[in-house]
Amino acid sequence: MFSFLSREPVHDPLDAPTPTAHTQVKTTTCYMCACRCGIRVHLRDGEHGPEVRYIDGNPAHPLNQGVICAKGSSGIMKQVSPARLTQPLLRKAGSERGAGEFEPISWERAFDMLTERLGRIRATDPKKFALFTGRDQMQALTGLFARQFGTPNYAAHGGFCSVNMAAGMIYTVGGSFWEFGGPDLDRARLFVMIGTAEDHHSNPMKIAISKFKRAGGRFISINPVRTGYSAIADEWIPIKPGTDGALFMALLHELIASDLIDHAFLKRFTNAPQLVVLDDCERQGLFAFDPDPTRGPPGDGRHPHNKLVWDLSEGSVKNAYPEGIADGCDPALEGHYTLTDGTRVAPSFQLLRDRVASCTPEWAEAITGIDAQRIRKLAREMGETALRQAFELPIPWTDAWGKQHPTTQARPVAFHAMRGLAAHSNGFQTVRALAVLMSVLGTIDAPGGFRHKAPYPRHIVPNYRAFNDPGMIQPNTPLNAAPLGFPANPEELAINPDGSPIRIDHAFSWEHPLSAHGLMHNVITNAVKGDPYRIDTLLIFMANMAWNSSMNTMAVREMLNRKDEKGEHMIPFLVVCDAFQSETVAFADLVLPDTTYLERHDVMSMLDRPISEFDGPVDSVRIPVVPPTGQCKPFQEVLIELASRLKFPAFTTPEGGRRFTGYPDFVVNFQPQPGIGFLMGWRGKDGTEHLRGEPNPKQWEAYAQNNCVFQYHMPETMHYMRNWNREYLDFAKDKGWRQRNDPVQLALYSDTLQSFRLAAQGKSAGRQPPDALRERIDTYFDPLPFWYPPLEEASTDLDTYPLNAITQRPMAMYHSWDSQNAWLRQIHSHNYLHVNPLTAQAAGIADGGWCWVESQWGQVRCMLRYSEAVEPGTVWTWNAIGKADGAWQLAPGADEARKGFLLNHLISEELPCAGTASGRISNSDPVTGQAGWYDVRVRIRPAEPGEPEESFPQMASMPSAPGVLGKAASVLTYFAGRGKK
Ligand code: SF4
Repeated sequence: MFSFLSREPVHDPLDAPTPTAHTQVKTTTCYMCACRCGIRVHLRDGEHGPEVRYIDGNPAHPLNQGVICAKGSSGIMKQVSPARLTQPLLRKAGSERGAGEFEPISWERAFDMLTERLGRIRATDPKKFALFTGRDQMQALTGLFARQFGTPNYAAHGGFCSVNMAAGMIYTVGGSFWEFGGPDLDRARLFVMIGTAEDHHSNPMKIAISKFKRAGGRFISINPVRTGYSAIADEWIPIKPGTDGALFMALLHELIASDLIDHAFLKRFTNAPQLVVLDDCERQGLFAFDPDPTRGPPGDGRHPHNKLVWDLSEGSVKNAYPEGIADGCDPALEGHYTLTDGTRVAPSFQLLRDRVASCTPEWAEAITGIDAQRIRKLAREMGETALRQAFELPIPWTDAWGKQHPTTQARPVAFHAMRGLAAHSNGFQTVRALAVLMSVLGTIDAPGGFRHKAPYPRHIVPNYRAFNDPGMIQPNTPLNAAPLGFPANPEELAINPDGSPIRIDHAFSWEHPLSAHGLMHNVITNAVKGDPYRIDTLLIFMANMAWNSSMNTMAVREMLNRKDEKGEHMIPFLVVCDAFQSETVAFADLVLPDTTYLERHDVMSMLDRPISEFDGPVDSVRIPVVPPTGQCKPFQEVLIELASRLKFPAFTTPEGGRRFTGYPDFVVNFQPQPGIGFLMGWRGKDGTEHLRGEPNPKQWEAYAQNNCVFQYHMPETMHYMRNWNREYLDFAKDKGWRQRNDPVQLALYSDTLQSFRLAAQGKSAGRQPPDALRERIDTYFDPLPFWYPPLEEASTDLDTYPLNAITQRPMAMYHSWDSQNAWLRQIHSHNYLHVNPLTAQAAGIADGGWCWVESQWGQVRCMLRYSEAVEPGTVWTWNAIGKADGAWQLAPGADEARKGFLLNHLISEELPCAGTASGRISNSDPVTGQAGWYDVRVRIRPAEPGEPEESFPQMASMPSAPGVLGKAASVLTYFAGRGKK
């Protein structure tokens, strides 16, 4: 009798597992998506060592508390995936890129080739090496590698993921959603989710929503599509893609007009009362300040605190600190004033009030498709919940200026937002509008509102300057600043003296000044164009650039194989490191086989992307539970090996020897500053110190004994109001999470953005944008949030292409990794275009019928399904299920290739732009460089009778790479430890 047919559960997930002679249980961290839940991997002896029997959630883990999702429990099928690469591969001499013809080589030969080639580049022109990585979780290491190499050409995937969400929030409130902060659903009464599919923060969000709904909380989801979380919302408000910013502006209009705002919070904790110069001069639009450096609390050039306010009680100007917050002072939020030197000024909140004055609900209705009365009601619900259902927690705290607050004020309206807002070319200002909305309600780091997670909040602007001087790029020399950072003004851009970009992706240039995560989506196009120069070697880790990670997929595939007049590839050497035979592997010159997450050490570090909780920092690790398959080697080990061979200073002893034996040794012993390392738990020689302390040689053992996770519980007095919480700010500085302990005032008005605008207007001294980009900077670097149509609309005939087309990530799959998973592909083996029946019927397309979807850039043929869970002006599909034939070791003719399709074929990675060197510019947000994935406009029509019933375009079938695991038949009948009792 098979127990899985029984009514009784196979096991109680809360029971401690009982190992037997042939079984054991090891804990590690899931990586079937980026949430990083704690898991227990149940192993059983197999013919060649331990095999994974099943995976469940770890009940002792703070993040997921034992919960596991379909993806997490299907990790076993990733481990035994037929697409696993198992040995280094070299493209066969004379074969074409894309043909996927390889010969196996040894690691030693691969390292020799890379050491020779990279050593030559580093000794001559380091920027000719570019390192771009996909959804990895080791940017503290990859960024260090690039910096030590001396190349600025480095970034991870954030520029094509959600940098607008990160940058828009961080430049406004000092933190962001998901890893760095989130909704406090334990105390919220109203939860508003916008533009979020079921992906980021998946299990923790599900647990939180479940509790929230059981406690009677009201959940509203605003999204063009009712999938994932939206399906269980109390109310779904459909909205047209790319218009969320207009909704937020109208909500601000209503809240301010009806005075449903937190005046006390705005006056003390934001820059709302600070006075902005109105006169037409070089300081127009910047904050007025007291030039006496001895007055007010200390700041620095990037974070000055010497601003001014207008005291209504005395009718005079005061320093914002300390007089502006002294008892008896009543800083004005409105009005116009004149300083003693005749300068005309106004509180920044007055400018915000002026800005939203015309953003009526009727104005927003015409843009968003949401009824004006519903917008009014939504504003009222938000404002009344925040202010009239407010309560206080009996938690005393002291603010940065010494004022003691006997209680902590709750504002029980929580928001959560993600890529639906971010992946538009108006996303930065849209996210700014949301952050300002959250701020006027007083919800920032308040109980029931948005709460930070350590090491956030950061300064506004964060104290991470990217390198900004081409003179820093020198042979055999590390960069003296990180390749990525947060510019605070034009002087911090990565540009040449003539204003042209230094980086291959044009990040931190006048084209995309605040591109904190780079623009990976433009690297191949720019490198092939030689704009601004040609590179020699591109190393791609875990990103499927020849398929679902690129816009304009077919053109990118052609560019990867394009040659110059001498017959040399435009990108001369392409190295791909991946665990699986993806579409991109076929284009590599050198393939490096990575391990799975079950075969390697990893860290979820405070230096990078930890898994902190609201109440304190949390970091975690992966520890191998099974040995590497074949000759697979973790990418971290590859980097440590190369860094050692190339003798990067940080990886070399003073005597010139190798400093680290491997990645685990590096994690334990590398310290960016004394006492601070990659892991914060069990530090000190004997492992008794936490957060800060000397390296502990047994740190990995300590994590292994503690479920692979370290959690630090801060005292309750440091749980809230951390932008201004004196105890927390001192603590965070002491632990190395921030360089300064001064408060982080919310930037409703951004003088950082204004500094770029003044340069564009020619009013400020210093760096000036090229004339062709002045208007662009002037328009989009508005210090106050505003809504504008996505940029692609300007070059689109909206009558011809009337529909928005977007993708959603399915619950059961994460990126392209899982659409090859033998268990998960039984849930989705192909995707449909989901269309409102009214729209589909108007186009004459039957439910289940084949149709063409056309944009001005390309066309795809696919199957269509009717769905009333999508607003009529939008069509959508699941992301990354369609595959190239034969890729990922799927059988030729598999559903994923024949019926599945990729929307990316309809999206261009560039838009026309007069004045740039190429006459084109990245299809991205003009502020941050975030890829405008969701801006494309399409039309649909039925496929003609007699057309092939298969998706278009189709690729020639990819051959199997040598050594690929390829056991499709045995995967389907998988049973670990076959033959053991
Ligand atoms: S949400 Fe699922 S896939 Fe993601 S880390 Fe958690 S268990 Fe793994």
